[in-house]
Amino acid sequence: MGAEQAEEVSSARRAELADRLAAVRRRIADACAAAGRGADEVALMAVTKTVSAADVAALLDLGLDLLGENRVQEASRKVEAVAALRPDARPRWHLIGGLQRNKVRAVARWAEQVESVDSVRLADALDAAVRRSVDTGGREASLSVLIQYSVDGDPQRGGVPRSDLLRLAEHVVSCAELRLAGLMAVAPLGADPEPAFADIAAASAALRAAHPDAATLSTGMIADLEIAIRHGSSVVRVGTALVGERTLASQ
Ligand SMILES: *Cc1c(COP(=O)(O)O)cnc(C)c1O
Repeated sequence: MGAEQAEEVSSARRAELADRLAAVRRRIADACAAAGRGADEVALMAVTKTVSAADVAALLDLGLDLLGENRVQEASRKVEAVAALRPDARPRWHLIGGLQRNKVRAVARWAEQVESVDSVRLADALDAAVRRSVDTGGREASLSVLIQYSVDGDPQRGGVPRSDLLRLAEHVVSCAELRLAGLMAVAPLGADPEPAFADIAAASAALRAAHPDAATLSTGMIADLEIAIRHGSSVVRVGTALVGERTLASQ
């Protein structure tokens, strides 16, 4: 799966991506209508981990511009390859998922937003990396961040528990190069989604009460986007349903 290969997809693949995108957009629109929300209140993020640069270019052609990656090395290569394929496009690359502090420098070069800030140390490392990148001309603006919230407090899966949420938010706000934009959360696997998303919505409300600009709520994936949208999600993250099954080797 050469993410670096600068080639174009076939017209059949392009048509498949268009069909898949239309189906996902329809589901989001229906979920918004059922929740009494406007269709423009919920953004669709294409999760492009393991997806080739050519497929990403085709998604950009179809009007998607919000892209989520979760592996720094893969993403750094892909950002360059996509820029070579579509120099006039303005993709917004977000990092989703766990981030090691020794990888923040690369992320600072290309990320519009990091959705997985869950510790003071990671916030500090990102702040310093963004400062360096701005100083050396690598990026123009500060970095938007979401705090990743953990519903069940399981440290393996990342995210801060509710007890630390507002303290971490205060710290992010104190970082000169970071802008606190909101909350990201994944409903725990196997748990009843209804109380999980109610809990996520309450955490988001508490964050917004303290920081009114932190209005983004990135939560909900293909299996649970209707419930997430009913509970106030403003970004749903969809990969496989848009691009097809990943091969096991690249998962
Ligand atoms: C991979 C991933 C997704 C998308 O998962 P799909 O099953 O491919 O739609 C969403 N959010 C995060 C954090 C992910 O890592």
